[in-house]
Amino acid sequence: MHELSIALRAVETILEDLAEQNGKVMSVQIRVGALSGVVPDSLRFAWDVACADTRLSGSTLEIEEVPVRIWCESCQREHTLPDADFVFRCPICAASITEVLAGRELEILSVEISEYESPQAD
Ligand SMILES: [Zn+2]
Repeated sequence: MHELSIALRAVETILEDLAEQNGKVMSVQIRVGALSGVVPDSLRFAWDVACADTRLSGSTLEIEEVPVRIWCESCQREHTLPDADFVFRCPICAASITEVLAGRELEILSVEISEYESPQAD
């Protein structure tokens, strides 16, 4: 499953980023574009497997799905495609699309870490 390798890579990246920080990871927000090739449900499923036995174990994966946005030269405006059916035509005038503005995203937006009790006394 393609999503598992994506989940594993995301977990690895987060662990590296948090190497200097204490605390347990509670939730992770990931932005997934409709054209990224990632199926959100599969990614959610893969997440638990990828997080097992790490500081991310038990963390919640929040997926922000980004629809496909295109720029139509002939309408001279931006449109959001109703679904990613990969037919790159303007939904209004049916012109071929040359510019995809959004939908290819696959990025980690934020990571929430549980409060860590400071070992420092005053
Ligand atoms: Zn158009």
